[in-house]
Amino acid sequence: MANPDRVVDLRSDTVTKPGPAMRAAIASAEVDDDVLGHDPTTAELEKRVAALLGKEAALFVPSGTMANQICVRAHCAPGSEIVLDRDSHVLRFEAGAPQLAGVGLHPLDGDHGFLDPDLVKRAIGPRNPHVPPTALVWGENTHNAAGGTVWPIDRLDAVAAVAHDTGIPFHLDGARIWNAAVASGEAPARIAACADTVTVGLAKGLGAPVGSLLAGRTSFVEQAWVIRKQLGGGMRQSGVLAAAGLYALDHHVERLGEDHSNARILAERLVDVPGIRIDLAATQSNIVVIDVEGTGRNPAEIVRDAERRGVRIIEFGHTIVRAMTHLDVGRGDVLHAADVLAEVLAGSSARSAASSGGDR
Ligand SMILES: *Cc1c(COP(=O)(O)O)cnc(C)c1O
Repeated sequence: MANPDRVVDLRSDTVTKPGPAMRAAIASAEVDDDVLGHDPTTAELEKRVAALLGKEAALFVPSGTMANQICVRAHCAPGSEIVLDRDSHVLRFEAGAPQLAGVGLHPLDGDHGFLDPDLVKRAIGPRNPHVPPTALVWGENTHNAAGGTVWPIDRLDAVAAVAHDTGIPFHLDGARIWNAAVASGEAPARIAACADTVTVGLAKGLGAPVGSLLAGRTSFVEQAWVIRKQLGGGMRQSGVLAAAGLYALDHHVERLGEDHSNARILAERLVDVPGIRIDLAATQSNIVVIDVEGTGRNPAEIVRDAERRGVRIIEFGHTIVRAMTHLDVGRGDVLHAADVLAEVLAGSSARSAASSGGDR
């Protein structure tokens, strides 16, 4: 089936396209030069996000990667290191950016992406001139690679407290903090309360075309402004982007619950397919991580077969594929995708059993 008549794109929640109302908000945005001075719409977005996160100030930047980078550079001197979960986005998917800043990463084995306070304490260790000093402890909520898991708030607070007890700041990568908030029922400000700095995204589940913010104390954001400039992230009439972000905050936060129930339905419909593994307990927001090892085929083949039948997912590890629900897929799309994926995955299992004689 070379040309499926229906395409459901579950590659990521970043594939959403701005609809007419968001485009109207973009078209009517008041703008000015935000590098020379202040763009009014960007300033409004920064103020709104700072308030939502319970921080003094926020700064608008082009991407989550840059937001994280600015925080790395603001907190960490070259030669120091960050204690974080082994599967953190910043470690696995940001092209080695912390290392460009001369900052080391000290990965720990998390549980569903959640750090263990005792292991963090041990990793920080007593001050010793022979070992890299820990400059920052890092958490990610929701945790992307763990399958969109949502930190229990006590656990997050406990990890941050271990950092703070030794005078080390805690950074929260909240690219999907809005999903964490809706899934847990905690306000974003409550989730971010333990963090000295936090990064949040607008172009993932919220459906804006571009943009992330970092937030923290005013003095931190002043420093961040300079680092953003050094990284080439100053944007002039950024109000056209900020307007989309404001629209997204007004209209696309509450509805994230729909994405979460759609992901749940997808996971439940696929979990019994022979040869695959889905951790239903970890399917807490809009991400479905599927281990296809037991099918005997590699994820690239499965992605290609699904794509041929109009369902787009991505390869997410040596034996893993990932599907994500979002604003632009409804319940009907997800039910259709579940049927197609179940057939693709079951077919692959049957085929690999049939070919176990060994001509693969
Ligand atoms: C996507 C993502 C980022 C990076 O955001 P970009 O805008 O793609 O650079 C950072 N952290 C997490 C947890 C993410 O999922």
